[in-house]
Amino acid sequence: MPSSKKIEDVLKYIRECSPGQDEFYQATAEVLDSLRPLLNEDPKYLEHNVLDRIVVPERTIIFRVTWVDDAGKVHVNVGYRVQFNSTIGPYKGGLRFHPTVSLGTVKFLGFEQIFKNALTGLQIGGAKGGSNFNPKGKSDNEIMKFCQAFMTELYHHIGKHKDVPAGDIGVGAREIGYLFGQYKRLTGEFDGVLTGKGLNWGGSKARKEATGYGSVYFAENFLNVYDKSLKGKRCAVSGSGNVAIYTIEKLYEMGAIPVSCSDSKGTIYREKGIDLKALKAIKEIHHASLEEYATVDCECSYIPVSKYPEGGHAVWHLPCDVAFPSATQNELTLIDAKALKENGCILINEGANMPTTPDALEFIKENGILFSPGKAANAGGVATSQLEMSQNASMAQWSFEEVDIKLRTIMQNIFKTAYETSKEFDCEGDLVTGANIAGFRKVADSMIDQGAV
Ligand code: GLU
Repeated sequence: MPSSKKIEDVLKYIRECSPGQDEFYQATAEVLDSLRPLLNEDPKYLEHNVLDRIVVPERTIIFRVTWVDDAGKVHVNVGYRVQFNSTIGPYKGGLRFHPTVSLGTVKFLGFEQIFKNALTGLQIGGAKGGSNFNPKGKSDNEIMKFCQAFMTELYHHIGKHKDVPAGDIGVGAREIGYLFGQYKRLTGEFDGVLTGKGLNWGGSKARKEATGYGSVYFAENFLNVYDKSLKGKRCAVSGSGNVAIYTIEKLYEMGAIPVSCSDSKGTIYREKGIDLKALKAIKEIHHASLEEYATVDCECSYIPVSKYPEGGHAVWHLPCDVAFPSATQNELTLIDAKALKENGCILINEGANMPTTPDALEFIKENGILFSPGKAANAGGVATSQLEMSQNASMAQWSFEEVDIKLRTIMQNIFKTAYETSKEFDCEGDLVTGANIAGFRKVADSMIDQGAV
């Protein structure tokens, strides 16, 4: 059967057997489409029915999470863990707590995670989990109650050699702490079953910084190929969570000027560069909105969501040389991509998972803007999680510098792998194709080695 017919059939099958999962269709369509050159070259993937197998999670766990708020009222949320693929290592991937989380969200993230984790060169399989719980406006006690209830179900399914969750949107050090405490209470075991732990109790130095730092290292590697660098470049960054904050920090270290950040209510623009200290204080200590940042920084302008271009995001309409989408999926649309082109942006480097819409991506490719796909550019977070697992297994703790050097090398290798693979398939610099083929090939070859399981 020709590969294009097979891809069509598999995508059709996904739609039929998993209705209403748009983000999952988007992620699978992007990956499968880009595999054409590999599938045409080597028939073994179709002979072994790898496509049919790789798009179905090995296991999907959906559970009720019942918890009691400070006023004594009972609430119910849905919890998910999608254990997508364990061919090259134990399941690994974050947990997302956000009101928009659905099964389709967790499946798209878990699917992406398979290839991202393979690209790190480390032995980790792909998974993702989360809940439609909204942490915003909840007290510390309510967050703890929710995390304890969530883990009371999840602990049956995870383990240091089986499945090792971590953070994602809405799940940071505080939540990992409450989840870990409950796991330990239920099992009586102190082990590395979660990553992103506190530094006093098994966490890795530089884990918090890793996704943002890694994203910047990746961008620098890419620009270097074209004899360019980040030095002196104006960089538009979206988001104001962990990824965005440490992207901004590393950009300053590289001599770039990060001119923006954003949250769900608005965007900050500061031509001279974001005040990182103020941003950390607002987001990491006060957990407040960027409206508050605007009140302490008189040199910035604040653009509320109501003033955004229709169907777009204000961040991408600012003058910039490099764009770092570091907030969430589908945050960079076609009109945004057109504005970036108009303003002379030369590289879009995805810090978030799937932040670029398919039509925007097509426009970016057609117009020769360099593009780093998230599954390669933001892999520094999960790679450092694996370094945390290594440290836990040997009861060691490495210095910040040691972890950072390893992270830098891993990002360089991911870049090289994606870039070399794009060359191998005659599309030099097309890192979407390069990253997807390289990640897929590693997992698919291993699946074939392990037989029809
Ligand atoms: N949530 C992060 C990601 O999207 C990190 C996952 C992990 O550390 O396991 O890759």
